Amino acid sequence: MKISKAARRIQPSLTRRLFDMAKEYDNVIDFTLGDPDYKTPKKIIESAKRAMDEGKTKYSANAGLPELRSIISDCIYNENKVKYDPQSEIIVTVGAMEALYLTLFCMLDPGDQVIIPAPYWINYVHMVQMCGGVPIIIDSYESNNFIVDINDIKNAITEKTTAIILNSPNNPTGTVYDKNTVLELCETAKKNDIMIVWDECYKSILYDDTEFVSVLDAPDVKSHAVIINSCSKKFSMTGWRIGYAAAPSELVSNMTKIQENLVACAPLPSQYAAIEAFRGDIDTKYMLDGFTKRRNKLVEGINGINKLSCKYPKGTFYAFVNIKRTGLGSEKFAYRLLESQQVAVVPGITYGDCCEGFIRIAYTVDEDKIEEGIRRIRRFIQEL
Ligand code: PLP
Repeated sequence: MKISKAARRIQPSLTRRLFDMAKEYDNVIDFTLGDPDYKTPKKIIESAKRAMDEGKTKYSANAGLPELRSIISDCIYNENKVKYDPQSEIIVTVGAMEALYLTLFCMLDPGDQVIIPAPYWINYVHMVQMCGGVPIIIDSYESNNFIVDINDIKNAITEKTTAIILNSPNNPTGTVYDKNTVLELCETAKKNDIMIVWDECYKSILYDDTEFVSVLDAPDVKSHAVIINSCSKKFSMTGWRIGYAAAPSELVSNMTKIQENLVACAPLPSQYAAIEAFRGDIDTKYMLDGFTKRRNKLVEGINGINKLSCKYPKGTFYAFVNIKRTGLGSEKFAYRLLESQQVAVVPGITYGDCCEGFIRIAYTVDEDKIEEGIRRIRRFIQEL
């Protein structure tokens, strides 16, 4: 059978590989996936059940239920004071992933370039390639809190540059972009007529009163921005597959056209669940409190282990651990740790060449597992 070059070119991610390998072991501590262990809040589940009982189990409009788009528009207005027309400037998608894919598919011609700061979520690179584009990776470093140097971005811009993908809070580092950087990136994008694809999927998970700065805080940026978000992380709804994009109408109408041909619409019961989630009265503070305790326990534990160090992430539920002093490459470290102590982590190299010498730990498991994971990692380092 013939498999296309495009399909063959995409390799499974190391995250999945480690996750799949972890399943082969009994008694494993799995720190690989960014899938929170909290249950979806009951009220959200009830609203989906009600919708299904009422027969709301069909297709919806391709761009999503008008009521849901209105609520999303209201949420953006309440948070950013920027108005998006629910009918023409918002599309509901199958998770943020499909929003990202549709955005890139509708913007890129073969050979168009997309700037992606590293450390990056590997799906960005794959999606750009799947859409015929060329990812242009710009490295950033721990010494600068993994915030990309704006001059490196400026120097990377060519006449083929179509977009830049920014993710704050960032997976895998937990970095949150500061105001100056965000404003300067927006100015650069506007000046060079580049679209900013702004992935804010983790913006509800912020620690230590960290201020979240959105691209929408920059003046007159709406025509150059695509805002991507979803229910997945905030409401622990990864399996419901609801995301959205807010963008200029010309882009949204094209994304809607492609959506019709790809999935028709996001699953309808999930859209009703999302209406309940975005309505605004779901308490998710207990999740943030839980992540805060886990973060503190994990980072303190890691920093107490010889040869490892880790900065406190400002957002997300990921810790990016520096393993350079062990002398092991990140892949080797991850495989050996899994084999010898049954602890699964993601090798830094997954997130770009500049991330060699790091591993990512997702603290999406309870505190007991975090304590046990730390005990095992300590043992692993002692036995090296
Ligand atoms: N963006 C980032 C940075 C992510 O890490 C993830 C998932 O891990 C997503 C988007 C996808 O979210 P969704 O479940 O809404 O498709």
